[in-house]
Amino acid sequence: MTLQTSGIHHITAFARNPQENVDFYAGVLGLRLVKKTINFDAPEVYHLYFGNEAGSPGTIITFFPWPESRKGRIGGGQVGTTTYVVPEGALEYWENRLESFSILVDKSERFGETYLQFRDNEGLQLELVARAEGANSGWSFGGIPLDKAIKGFGGAVLYSVNPEKTAHVLEHVLGMKKTEEDGGYLRFLTDGDIGNRIDLRLAALPWGGGGAGTVHHIAWRAKDFQEHAQWQSFVSEEGYQPTTIIDRQYFNAVYFREPGGILFEIATDPPGFARDEAADALGEKLMLPAWYEPQRAQIEANLLPIEVREVKGGRL
Ligand code: ZN
Repeated sequence: MTLQTSGIHHITAFARNPQENVDFYAGVLGLRLVKKTINFDAPEVYHLYFGNEAGSPGTIITFFPWPESRKGRIGGGQVGTTTYVVPEGALEYWENRLESFSILVDKSERFGETYLQFRDNEGLQLELVARAEGANSGWSFGGIPLDKAIKGFGGAVLYSVNPEKTAHVLEHVLGMKKTEEDGGYLRFLTDGDIGNRIDLRLAALPWGGGGAGTVHHIAWRAKDFQEHAQWQSFVSEEGYQPTTIIDRQYFNAVYFREPGGILFEIATDPPGFARDEAADALGEKLMLPAWYEPQRAQIEANLLPIEVREVKGGRL
C-alpha cells in the first residue's frame, strides 16, 4: 500500500465560552479566525476554526464552544498535547508574551528540541517548538510580528490506551515513518513540512473523559478526493470501521476510532475555507450550509455574539 498522509489536517477540541475561546486563540495566540459556522449536528453550538491566513491544512484548530459543557479529563484515547511550531528564534518572544497574559509556561526537552508547554483557558495542553521547516504565517494579530507568528502545527502528542496498536495504525495505515524513542515517546514522521512529527507516549494511559479542555479528534491529510476514497477503502480493508465519506463543506471527512481509543479522521485538502467567503474576509460572517439557511435568524438568535478583538496582557 502506498498511501501516506503528509501530516495533520486539523485538530478539533471542546471549549465552553465562545468569546473566551476567540480571545485565547485569536487574541493571545494570534491565529486567524478563518471560519465561523455551527456544529452541523447541533446548530445551537458554534464551530470555530482558527489557522494561518488561509486556514491551510496543518494549521487549523477547531472548537465546539458550549457554555454548559462539562469539564473533560485529559487521558488515554486522546491527543494529549497539541504542538504548534513557530519560526526559529521565536521561543523567547513567546515565553514573554504568554507570561504577560499570566499564563504559566514550563520548558521541556524532547528529541533534542525545547518545548514551551502551557494550557489554554480551559486546560487544553499546548506547546510551542521552534523550527526552520514550514512556511511562515501571513497573518499578524495582537502585535505579534510575522517572523514570530505561529506557523501551524508542529505535530501532536498522542495518549493511547494501547500504544502498540496505535503505533501500528500510524505506521501501517497512515503510512508514517517510525523513527526513534526518547524519554518515553516514540516519534513518527511524515513527508510534510508542517504537522509532521507525531509523538506517541509509550506508556498506556487510562481512558480520559471528553469535555471542555480536551481534544475530540485529530484529522490527517488526504491530498484530493480520489485519494480520500482510497483511504476510506483501505481503512476498511485493514479491519477498522470507517464511516462513509461525509461532506464537511470545507473538506470531506472519514472517521474511525483507532484501537488505542483516539478518534481519527481523514480529511481532504480541498476545497478549503475560501469556498464560501472571499480569502480576505474569512471568518467575518456566520456561514451556514445551504440546508440551514432557512433557519438563519433563529440560529443566530441562539448563539452568543463573538468578536475577534485585541486582548491586553493580564486580562485572561
Ligand atoms: Zn474534524
